[in-house]
Amino acid sequence: MFKRVGGTKDILPQESPFWQKIEEISRNVFSLYNYKEIRVPLIEEAALFNRSLGESAEIIQKQMFIIKSKEDTYALRPEGTASIVRAYIENNLDKTTGFIKLYYTGPMFRLERPQKGRLRQFHHIGAEAIGSMDPSLDAEIISLADHLLREFSVDNYKIKLNSLGCTKDKKELTSRLHRALGDKLYKLCADCKIRFKKNTLRILDCKKESCQGVVRKLDIQDSHLCPECKVHFARVRAGLDSLKINYEVCSYLVRGLDYYTRTVFEITHQSLGAQDALGAGGRYDNLVKELGGPELGAMGFAFGVERLLLVTRSGGQEVGSQKLVYVIALGDEAKIQGLKLLDKLRKERIICDTDYEGKSLKSAMRKANDLGAGFVLLIGEDELKKNVLTLKDMSSGKQEEIRPEELISRLRC
Ligand code: AMP
Repeated sequence: MFKRVGGTKDILPQESPFWQKIEEISRNVFSLYNYKEIRVPLIEEAALFNRSLGESAEIIQKQMFIIKSKEDTYALRPEGTASIVRAYIENNLDKTTGFIKLYYTGPMFRLERPQKGRLRQFHHIGAEAIGSMDPSLDAEIISLADHLLREFSVDNYKIKLNSLGCTKDKKELTSRLHRALGDKLYKLCADCKIRFKKNTLRILDCKKESCQGVVRKLDIQDSHLCPECKVHFARVRAGLDSLKINYEVCSYLVRGLDYYTRTVFEITHQSLGAQDALGAGGRYDNLVKELGGPELGAMGFAFGVERLLLVTRSGGQEVGSQKLVYVIALGDEAKIQGLKLLDKLRKERIICDTDYEGKSLKSAMRKANDLGAGFVLLIGEDELKKNVLTLKDMSSGKQEEIRPEELISRLRC
């Protein structure tokens, strides 16, 4: 009798309704934030992952499922970001669409030692927003992950947040660690001794108590961050604070992949035990260029579906099929108000989005039109001063000032 491969699972009929529910809730929530689905192949050239994730990443070193043909070396995808960036560039989306919000669901493959919550074939639900450096986008993505968890009826999770800084800052942090840990190597575990040479930052989030003891004494703060990265991180936190998202800044959080820069986050759930990450993500501002595209900021995250199913068993609500409300916020203060407004609309299950490309009023209006928005909501200096919003009905062209408390009823009528 044949048996399934270790670390894979059969999803039997009694289990599929839970999968369907998770997928359905995800699609509904993603559409509230104006994300569109992308489906990319399960196999790619292995070199795509080597280049994106970095040769020293654990996935590349130990966990790739490699398929060799006579001429080529392929890999079963271990994650979605690299393939999606490849597809973004290959299909010229940078030229035709520019900034884009994408979501995906599907199986990923890693040659791991199977255990609870750690499989060789598992499933991601993830999102990638490509083409923006705006820190409000980081805040929106983290709040999207938080929103998904609430809709899945997961509670008691923790959002850990950090900024790795730009490439230069990461190098600075690496050399500080080299200086600080050079004479303490004998206290580190065998893996961290190797990481010291090849992937030094990973020592910071080693789960072994002995390594944590050494690292916690180093008092890593944010002093490796350059002024621009400090401002970026402060704006991300201000955005999250304005949305009342509970998070914890954790200077020891690093992600194992080379492509991460600036904001990184991880969402954990205590009940999962040793493999406690429900999902994780971050910025990857160099990856599009690294893979042959233009210089564009980007950010994404993914949840592991099997782990979500270990912590939830309940359903959510439907999103209606209304037209998009496009928010145009001009200026830093208006952007924070814009973030709050988007959050309010989504809580009312109204589909909405905003500009993350720093467009002028005129080109943001054009974008709203291209997206087929039903309404545009404008917040500029004038609106802030008067505590009003300018609402434009895109089908009649009528524009008027309204009070914020009138907004929901005006959009619904
Ligand atoms: P990563 O791409 O490693 O950041 O993983 C994102 C999420 O995918 C994790 O937080 C887990 O929920 C899930 N995940 C990663 N690796 C596995 C695995 N081997 N088995 C099951 N779930 C996984």
